[in-house]
Amino acid sequence: MKLLRTKADLNAWLTERHGITRFLVPTMGALHRGHTSLFDQARGETGKDGDVIATIFVNPVQFGPNEDFDAYPRPLEADLEKCADHGVDAVFAPDVSEVYAADRSISVGENRLSTTLCGASRPGHFDGVCTVVAKLFNLTRPDAAIFGEKDFQQLAVIRRLVRDLDFPVRIVAGPTVREADGLALSSRNIYLSAEQRTEAPTLARSLREVAAAIASGEIGDPSEARQEFLDRFASASLARLDYFEIVDSSTLAPLQSFAGHEPRLIAAAFFGKTRLIDNVGLPRD
Ligand code: AMP
Repeated sequence: MKLLRTKADLNAWLTERHGITRFLVPTMGALHRGHTSLFDQARGETGKDGDVIATIFVNPVQFGPNEDFDAYPRPLEADLEKCADHGVDAVFAPDVSEVYAADRSISVGENRLSTTLCGASRPGHFDGVCTVVAKLFNLTRPDAAIFGEKDFQQLAVIRRLVRDLDFPVRIVAGPTVREADGLALSSRNIYLSAEQRTEAPTLARSLREVAAAIASGEIGDPSEARQEFLDRFASASLARLDYFEIVDSSTLAPLQSFAGHEPRLIAAAFFGKTRLIDNVGLPRD
């Protein structure tokens, strides 16, 4: 496996691998089974003759001023081992100064899907994501790229980025990988105290139970589903709900009715300072 630290390293590798199908897996590192499942899925899709390139880059421009950019874990050695164990061909892990000019003056913004949900709580976050993903697409020039459904709004925004700016990149979604108790794996789970960790699965469980009640016909409309979620999630006494919405899975528009939509139940909650997100999907009604 090649470790590429600079754009020059990356370009030399791209030249060497000219003509080979390339699958990109962008990450911020602190890799867990959620990330490695994306490496495995990328490998499965691209086949043994294709290349899988992972990027490890904690992108400063997607963090708000009071967020955890400095504290974000950066265990590079352990991450590289996981990449190698999952058949990644190359890892691009540049420094911030390699990616952003000190006087950079252009960014990419999305102004519809990113205004709600996490975008409402994290102003500027999705512009930072769009900017770095556009740059990573230009730098690594992949045929396909995979993003986790765990960050469902991000996935929807990136599909728009590709559609609206005509990036020749196929976007693939990876299912959410969970702990045995249902908690979605996240690099931020390490911030949870023991008590918070015990309660954290309530988020996934409440989403799953409400989705099951909708699927069985027990719940017939989004407002009923909302009340049911609030009732269930109230048992997490340490949590503060940031949002819960039932949205159309492509437009992220809130639904008044399930009819004609592929609904997604999506939520975020604070456990202390740690903000957890999760979502579950339902088949088109
Ligand atoms: P991050 O390092 O948090 O930026 O995540 C990198 C990629 O891994 C994103 O596409 C995430 O959606 C995806 N990801 C993070 N957690 C999970 C998970 N539990 N299951 C599947 N994919 C995940």
